Amino acid sequence: MSKTMTGGCQCGRIRYEAMLENADAYWCHCRMCQRATGGIAAAFAQVPRREVRWLAEPDWYESSAIAHRPFCSACGTPLGFAFLDGEGGMDLTVGSFDDPSGFKPVLHAGAESIHESWLDTRGLPRHYTATTRNVADRYAALGLEVPE
Ligand SMILES: [Zn+2]
Ligand SMILES: [Zn+2]
Repeated sequence: MSKTMTGGCQCGRIRYEAMLENADAYWCHCRMCQRATGGIAAAFAQVPRREVRWLAEPDWYESSAIAHRPFCSACGTPLGFAFLDGEGGMDLTVGSFDDPSGFKPVLHAGAESIHESWLDTRGLPRHYTATTRNVADRYAALGLEVPE
């Protein structure tokens, strides 16, 4: 079942619409994705290129000899990945979707660089932003709600 989903960067300058065929997503643990996102891995959803419509064109940089990555040069949000030869689908970062909650990870790519200790963190204590005083108090001082 295909579904149109929207997303974009943190500052709102770059927006996209994408037609997704399913809820499949995956982790890429390769070192280039770690550096490109600053995370322990990149969470991606693969989409046919023709099914991605940029409402405002992203910036692109060549992250290797074979690939480039869209991002927002105003706020820095990593938005995805595509091969330079234009073949195959492209990836959009799961976290850049307006609603990333429905995606399901189905595989690990770049498995040679997996940080195993981060894979199952369910047992760790959980803190919530709205009740984290050093964050919530700063928003409250400005008369603002803690943003989503
Ligand atoms: Zn931005
Ligand atoms: Zn990667």
